Amino acid sequence: MYQLIYGSTATKDMTEADILQILETSRRNNGEKNITGLLLYKDGNFLQVLEGEKQLVKDLAVKIAKDERHRNMMIYVQREIEAREFSDWSMGFRNLNKFDVKSLDGYSPILEFSFMGQELKENPTYATAFINAFKNI
Ligand code: FAD
Repeated sequence: MYQLIYGSTATKDMTEADILQILETSRRNNGEKNITGLLLYKDGNFLQVLEGEKQLVKDLAVKIAKDERHRNMMIYVQREIEAREFSDWSMGFRNLNKFDVKSLDGYSPILEFSFMGQELKENPTYATAFINAFKNI
């Protein structure tokens, strides 16, 4: 089992309809490939975790990287995992623009960092902390 986490920047302001379209396609395709994960959106940036069979996850990341709806895709985490950590969704979604992260249990200041900011680039483990913070809300 393989896990990949990347960040990217939307090429335009994403409406709910734009995001829904991405999610519908993702859920259909990921369901067929037994890929699970979570997509976060905040201030025009995406952070996504993909989990599944290694080659399928890598191939999907290559396909997603070519999508013109976003750019500057930066892979933060690629690792073998013993078991899925995001098994509940073919693709879950959280719009962090609608969240007051300070109200979260276990709030940490890193949750206010930008997905594409210097902090995540310098410390990719923050990407894992981010994704995990929004897993169960
Ligand atoms: P199609 O059936 O040909 O396309 C699927 C739908 O996407 C169609 O309705 C099409 O109109 C629309 N579409 C495709 N490209 C664009 C575009 N550039 N602008 C507007 N609409 C477009 N795909 C997954 O399968 N799994 C994922 O987890 C996943 N995560 C994504 C995360 C992000 C942040 C983004 C931007 C895209 C993601 N995608 C994901 C979409 C992926 O990049 C491909 O568009 C999709 O996989 C193509 O699916 P398909 O081969 O079934 O193509």
